[in-house]
This record gives sequence, structure tokens and C-alpha cells, in this order.
Amino acid sequence: MVKKDDKTKGQKLEEELLIKSEIVGSKDDGLLEEAQGYGEEYKQFLCHKTEREIVDYTVPIVEKLGYKKFVPGTKYKPGQKVYFVNRNKNLITMTFGKRPLVEGVRISVAHADSPRLDFKPNPLFEADDMAYFKTHYYGGIKKYQWTTIPLSLHGVVTLTNGSTVKVTIGEDDSDPSFCITDLLIHLAYDQVQKPAAKVIDGEQLNILIGSWPFKDDKVSQKVKLNIMNILHEKYGITEADFQSAELCACPAYRPRDFGLDRSLIGAYGQDDKVCCFAQFKAETETQKPEFTSMMVFADKEETGSDGPTGMRSVFWRDFLEDVASAWGYPIRHVLRNSLCLSCDVNAGVDPAWPEVFESRNCSYIGRGPVVSKYTGSRGKYSTNDASAETMSYLRKILEDAKIPWQVGELGKIDVGGGGTIASEISVHNLDTIDMGVPVLSMHAPLEVTSKVDDYLLYKAMKAFFACKDPKDF
Ligand code: MN
Ligand code: MN
Repeated sequence: MVKKDDKTKGQKLEEELLIKSEIVGSKDDGLLEEAQGYGEEYKQFLCHKTEREIVDYTVPIVEKLGYKKFVPGTKYKPGQKVYFVNRNKNLITMTFGKRPLVEGVRISVAHADSPRLDFKPNPLFEADDMAYFKTHYYGGIKKYQWTTIPLSLHGVVTLTNGSTVKVTIGEDDSDPSFCITDLLIHLAYDQVQKPAAKVIDGEQLNILIGSWPFKDDKVSQKVKLNIMNILHEKYGITEADFQSAELCACPAYRPRDFGLDRSLIGAYGQDDKVCCFAQFKAETETQKPEFTSMMVFADKEETGSDGPTGMRSVFWRDFLEDVASAWGYPIRHVLRNSLCLSCDVNAGVDPAWPEVFESRNCSYIGRGPVVSKYTGSRGKYSTNDASAETMSYLRKILEDAKIPWQVGELGKIDVGGGGTIASEISVHNLDTIDMGVPVLSMHAPLEVTSKVDDYLLYKAMKAFFACKDPKDF
């Protein structure tokens, strides 16, 4: 008698030999419930919208968790935790492992900056009795998406006396909000014929900030003066102080659950705060690891990783060198034995645009974290291409921890492309792999991820930091 659940030879072979990529909920329907608490913490993290705000938010947390400010020259003991802040924009946390540092560090890097609208150095102007801030967009955006949505203002103004004023307006429900207006459809006959890149011009991304005049007939720009007066009363700044400021406008949306089943999170800036939060939570929960763990919040990823806070800067390598020099280890020896996860989001397959995705090698919402062997464009230009050995090491970590995952190329080969900071890291002779989660509407003011993917990325990061196997196992 053949039992009903007996599998055919073909079915058995299929299981043994073929990849089966499926939505993780079909294997474990308790996962979404398990991910809810993580989702709440993640949404809280997302309320901090710029790299500076992320550093300001996380430093008190790590201090509370027992991290100490890094002191160069110290021989830290296994289990000790240190942190380092670079120019108020990068945070590095490190937990010392049982093995000597020279045997390698488990590093993860994610970027805390997201596309947004930076203020120009002279932003304030008045036109037709209304006042505006002129912006210069930061990162890759579809400009038309940034009109007629609520915006909030973020950043710092540093005065010539050296003091810095922090600005956040439009996040609290009692704050005023801001927007960029768009042309009414009735008069948009010409506008809507234009290609999308030209529907809104960079110089039209002006933020409406007021319309009420200062009462004085002897003044020509009354609305502008009134706005500057309000800012002066609140922050003690003058128009010239904008020249030593870093201010920007971000979508004012609050991070929220999306979908009737609450399986998704919709928010601004999930690229790449989704990975920042996963690696942050995982690293801070790592206790006495085998190998020293290190987490970095990068900046300027969206504009090419330049400047002293981008990953092309040596700030993180200098930090690691300062750590290694306490024992006299050359930094190059530490780097070549280390392994880095370049944590960044990938494009989730969107059924509205099947023509840009290659279904066998792109990533899907709800199928777990996505690992990319390489990124780049065309014939693999500008890419770190993780080696077979490095990929197998990460595969083993994920399989041992029973974490479902998927591979992901950004899209079809010749439709576009994009890189990550993996190339900036691996140039230091440091094995690097890209890992993240699929996201829908990447770089839009509102991006969507799967709550379970986000949670499984955190679990994957935990397994990575906790791994006891040496890299050449
Ligand atoms: Mn990114
Ligand atoms: Mn991006």
C-alpha cells in the first residue's frame, strides 16, 4: 500500500536538487506576528530622517547599553563595547571578540542618508507676496514626486560664534507643514506633454513657507522679512547664517503599517535606514562574539560617497587602524582577514513593471533578505563582485541560522543599474557582500518594505555577528 503522503521519486529529486523560492509566510505563518515588535521599534527609528538625526538618536542608546567612547591605544577585552562618532554624521559601534583582532572583524555598513531636498546657500526669496526656500535636490529623485506632499524641515545652522542651532519643523502634529506647489491640471496642457524628467525643473523645487507681510510700508520684501523675523525670534539666526547651515526638506510622512494585513511598512527614507536599524540592533545585542563585530552608519551614499563622512573617506579605516595599533597589528592584516556586509536595499519586483525585472534573479517582497553577489551596470561596471568563497561563507551562516533568503540583481541587465558602497569597502582588500531587503518605490518620498523581510534581515545580521567559523572554514 502506498501511503497518501509518500512523495514520488521526481518530487524527492525536485526537493533535493532544485531551488524553491517562496514567500516566507507559507513556511512559517507565525513570522509576521513575531516581527510586529521589531516593526514598532523600526518605525520609531525611521522618525529620525537625516544622518545627523540618526546619530543624535542612537548615541544615547549605545551609551545606555554600556558602550564607551573609543580611546585609541587601549587593549580592549572580549565583550567590551566602544563607539566612535565622526563629524556628527557617522556612528561606529564595536564589540570586542574572543579572537585576536588580527584574525578579522565582522563589519557591516549601511547608509543613514536618503534622497531629499537640501537648501541652497541663499535659500530665502519672495515672489508674488509669498516666501520660499530654494532647494538643490540631494540624490536620485523623480522631481515630480516631491510636489504637493507635506514636507518637514531638518538640519543645523552654525553661527560664527561656533554655536549650532538644531532645526526640526513639521514632524510634530502641532508644527506647521510645508510643500512645493504644482501647476493646476487646467493649465498644464504643455507640462503634461513633457518627459517625466522635465515635468518639474530643479529650479521649480521651491518650498512655500509663508504669505503674511511685515507691517512696514518702507520695506520692499515684507513677506520675506516677516519669515526671517520669525526665524530670528525662534533661532536667533539671520539670512547670512543660511550660508553656514545644512538644512533640508524631507517628506513629513510618519512611518506606518501598510496593507489590511499590516504586513508592510510605508515610510520615507527606508533606503537605507531599514539596514541601518537591522545592523544597529544586531550589533548592540551582540555579546562576547567570537570575532570582533563592527557596525558603521555611512553618509553621502546617495551622492557618490564623497567627502569626509562618505565611505570613500578613510574615517572608518582610520578608526580600525587606531583599534589595531594597540596590539601592534598592521591594519592591512586585519582588513584582509575581515568580512564586510554592505547592507543596502534592492529593487523589489513590482508587477506594474514586469518589463524591467528578470524574474529568476530579482528579489521579491516577502521572501526574506536579499543577497547580491554584485551590483553595478551594463557589463558589471563599477561593482564589487563577491567571490564564490565569500558567498559560500555567507550562505552557510544563513542556512545554519535557518534564515530564508533570496538572491537579487537590481533589474534586467540593460535597463539601468546602480551601485552600492561595497566597492568603496572592498578596495581595501576586504571581502564584501551586498545584503539588504527588497523595497518598492525606492527613492520615492514613500517607500514600501515587508515587515518580515526587515525582521529577517536583523536576524541575519545577528547570525553574521555571532558566527564562530573563521572565514576559511
Ligand atoms: Mn541605498
Ligand atoms: Mn539609494
